[in-house]
Amino acid sequence: MILDVRNLTHYFDNIKALDDVSFKIENNSIISILGPSGCGKTTLIRLISGLEEIQEGEIYLHDNLVSHKKINLPPEERSISYVFQDFALFPHMTVLENISFAASSQKNKKQLTDQVITLAKIENFLTKYPHQLSGGEQQRVALARSIAVQPKLLLLDEPFSDLNTSLKKEIIDDTLHLIKSLESSAIIVTHNAEEAMFLSDQIIVINHGSIVQVGTPYDIFYNPKNSYVASLFGEINLYSTKVFDGYCSTPIGKIKALDFANGDNVDIVIRPEALILNKEKSPLISEVNGIVVDSKFIGNYAIVHMTVSDSTGEKFHMHSKVSGDFLPKAASSVSIKLDTRHIFIFSRN
Ligand code: ATP
Repeated sequence: MILDVRNLTHYFDNIKALDDVSFKIENNSIISILGPSGCGKTTLIRLISGLEEIQEGEIYLHDNLVSHKKINLPPEERSISYVFQDFALFPHMTVLENISFAASSQKNKKQLTDQVITLAKIENFLTKYPHQLSGGEQQRVALARSIAVQPKLLLLDEPFSDLNTSLKKEIIDDTLHLIKSLESSAIIVTHNAEEAMFLSDQIIVINHGSIVQVGTPYDIFYNPKNSYVASLFGEINLYSTKVFDGYCSTPIGKIKALDFANGDNVDIVIRPEALILNKEKSPLISEVNGIVVDSKFIGNYAIVHMTVSDSTGEKFHMHSKVSGDFLPKAASSVSIKLDTRHIFIFSRN
């Protein structure tokens, strides 16, 4: 076990930034902390790193108690390394000096420095100073430097947020290889679900300072615990209704709700990919249909905006995600089949 966080609660004046947060991280694993702005991600990372003094709870690193009300081991004694959004490099040192300095206390300093330089792909600017580097290059050096310390645990707080999309993808990919090849463990803070899924073995979803769900990317995507978690992976269609005889009547047909009692109020989350469209409105394909409002081409996929009607004739606007070559015209009719893997029912209190 590399990290064991127990019952962390943290206040800033009367703001409760964290509320009884507990989780564990196994050796050689990468986890993401996923949540919206202000949910407490940075506070959690700062407590784990020792930059913020603990108020309630305990933190164990490699089975050693490092934070408790009466103990706060300083960051440099925790065998962790962190990269924040503003990845400050030593400005008076070249790239090579920045990396060598980080590796200076390691026995295999030369070999480690060379390995990190190759893995982080920074060979071409070793003699430059930080101010002579682009944002993406500085990012690579900051990651390399944090790895060169050979930390047991690497903490990355939104490290990719300032980079443009293509550079971001490349650096995220390289970061993953870098962490895995050096057998480190890492916690990556992000508000981007796709980034979290790509990078991590486990995702911890946080909202309003509390853990909402912990699971593999597959679990979180296919078994979200509530509509907030389901909505992290892109836009959703939301329909509120009541359960009757184990089913919900919706504008897209009857949906099984076997775990609910008669009369229960529920929210149905329908991901756009749940709505499979066919151009011909045909009762042979499906009895459910929609009228196209617009089709938007997004590249590999298209979003079809539709109006669907429930049994009372009330109209609802829904989005379907379809392949990019399917662009039905406005006012045309489409039949709708359901991919129920992307439909979730949650109790509404
Ligand atoms: P973001 O994604 O925007 O960085 P976050 O999830 O990292 O947000 P935190 O920075 O941990 O969130 O903040 C959690 C809450 O604590 C917020 O309400 C924030 O305003 C508050 N907070 C954080 N740091 C301080 C501080 N030093 N003083 C007062 N309030 C703070």
